Amino acid sequence: MSSHLVESVAASLLRKEVLDLHAYHVPESAGFVKLDAMENPYGLPESVLEELQACIYQAPINRYPDPTGRALKQQISRILNLSDDMDILLGNGSDELIQLLVMALNKPNSTLLSVEPSFVMYKMIATFTGMNYVGVPLKTDFSLDTPAILAAIKQHQPALVFLAYPNNPTGNTFAAEDVQTIIEVATGLVVVDEAYYAFAEESFIPYLATYPNLLVMRTFSKLGMAGLRLGFIAGSKAWLQQLDKLRLPYNVGVLPQLVAEILLKHHDVLLQQAEQIKQARSQLSQQLAALTGVEVFESQANFILFRVNAASDVFNALKQHNILIKNLNGGHPMLVNCLRVTVGSEEENNQFINALREILK
Ligand SMILES: *Cc1c(COP(=O)(O)O)cnc(C)c1O
Repeated sequence: MSSHLVESVAASLLRKEVLDLHAYHVPESAGFVKLDAMENPYGLPESVLEELQACIYQAPINRYPDPTGRALKQQISRILNLSDDMDILLGNGSDELIQLLVMALNKPNSTLLSVEPSFVMYKMIATFTGMNYVGVPLKTDFSLDTPAILAAIKQHQPALVFLAYPNNPTGNTFAAEDVQTIIEVATGLVVVDEAYYAFAEESFIPYLATYPNLLVMRTFSKLGMAGLRLGFIAGSKAWLQQLDKLRLPYNVGVLPQLVAEILLKHHDVLLQQAEQIKQARSQLSQQLAALTGVEVFESQANFILFRVNAASDVFNALKQHNILIKNLNGGHPMLVNCLRVTVGSEEENNQFINALREILK
């Protein structure tokens, strides 16, 4: 059977949205100093590793996981100090939860609104689920253009608004008052995506009790558990009971649940690592700013956005030095000549900055 034939059969059957989609691209990273995906560079203390080992040894992997993830949800609720009318919805990464939210709110002809540049999955998931998408440009300093957002809300009446707080790929946090104004004016659900909460100063979790149209989404990916695939939504039980109907029954496996429970028992260890990353971030920002021809943007996340004169050349030259970062040039027009580097270990950061210094010489 020719692959041509299969291709044309598939093309005749698949939805247009799927055929038109560009797959989310993950570059080959084996052998590179990997500073492209906001992973935590540190390992775990020996004592925690031993605890994990003992736990995995007796994990009931012949059984389906607890479909409700009760123990893990209670642990997260305690850490967040949630009140009794609030709950947690667990996802296989927060990407899965973005998809779940879109499925839940996508009434015929409804709209998802976000800002640009921001996290690409909002637009991608809206596109392949057939929800209208509106992206309001940020101002040139990457702050919210609140009047433009309010006008777009008035015009499009979005059923769903996503704001990444801090924002990816720009790294800044928006003014809390602006976000509050948006929540107050929006008639739809506003989801504040706090993927980088561990590296930031502020959170919208305290506002959950104030606004009936607010949910806060977080992930453990950036805090050292990217491989587990675990994200969650925090919010009122009234919202989460409805959304839970769309969650596939066993979306978080036995091992991710068990491992996360142990790691969250040692939440202080992970937060300490986040502190270390924040310190390394400020050092790396200063080193970048000291290079001629480099513009550095302020970050409250575990990565730094910076602009050079010829981003694609610099990106490729770094690859020649075995260093993989993210090239944002050619994506959004506001990101022309921009690169994004994840803050790594001290050694990785040194390798990166020394290579960059060499390349820009
Ligand atoms: C990384 C990231 C996510 C996705 O996290 P996962 O839990 O790994 O799926 C969501 N939102 C933003 C803004 C991110 O940067």
